[in-house]
Amino acid sequence: MTAIEPRLLEVESVEKRFGGVRAVDGVSFSLAAGELTALIGPNGAGKSTLFAVIAGQHRPDAGAVRFDGRAITGLHPAAHAHRGIGRTFQTAQGFASMTVRENVQLALAARDRAVFNVARPLWSRAADAADALLARVGLAAQAQRAADDLAYGDVKRLELAIALAARPKLLLMDEPTAGMAAAERFALMDLVRAIAAETGLTVLFTEHSMEVVFGYARRVLVMSRGKLIADGAPDEVRANAAAQAAYFGEAA
Ligand code: ADP
Ligand code: MG
Repeated sequence: MTAIEPRLLEVESVEKRFGGVRAVDGVSFSLAAGELTALIGPNGAGKSTLFAVIAGQHRPDAGAVRFDGRAITGLHPAAHAHRGIGRTFQTAQGFASMTVRENVQLALAARDRAVFNVARPLWSRAADAADALLARVGLAAQAQRAADDLAYGDVKRLELAIALAARPKLLLMDEPTAGMAAAERFALMDLVRAIAAETGLTVLFTEHSMEVVFGYARRVLVMSRGKLIADGAPDEVRANAAAQAAYFGEAA
């Protein structure tokens, strides 16, 4: 018998319908720990819906999701977060009207289930941990600023720090570089790649910039009309006729 490599995430025949729309239509794949994988496909392909199923915001109509060896299908989103699934969103979610540091402190306190009972020592400890996270994402100098005052690129860094505060094993990033200039995009993805390499974090990200996809992903999944139509190394996917027709043709 061959030993089977353990998979961090296993998505099995997942379906999610909205009325007559099959947003996710029988998708199966798995991710090994530490992989940096891109999920691409035209608008409406079902990428964000698939993320919402994996992160527990949507219950699938069929299929199953296993994470770290356990079935998590249909559990509450907080249970997904607690098991180690984090996400950042396609559109910025808005921050609490506090400083950059306080937003990260709040996320750290939430992880420690202390959000409604923020004892002072805990809150101060969270400040040190928040500063460490802010330094890691390049926001140390912005710690005291109001979070809703940040420049767009820094908003994305703060979202990353807040997501990391929960210490995820898997981070789902939905179009992390949308709306960014090229240099800013690469800087953010360099950061994500470095953090993944340091911590063993597994990252699944959706992305429209082919430079980012082929510059950073070790593996590329392609969705079209709810289905997974290609899955492989970047060069294999680039040469795949179905993926080209569904995506690269259109993008050109
Ligand atoms: P992508 O992220 O790849 O652009 P989405 O997952 O956002 O695609 O959307 C996939 C399909 O599901 C689209 O047809 C979209 O209109 C539909 N859809 C997504 N979310 C909802 C929702 N909450 N209610 C109804 N339809 C939705
Ligand atoms: Mg989307």
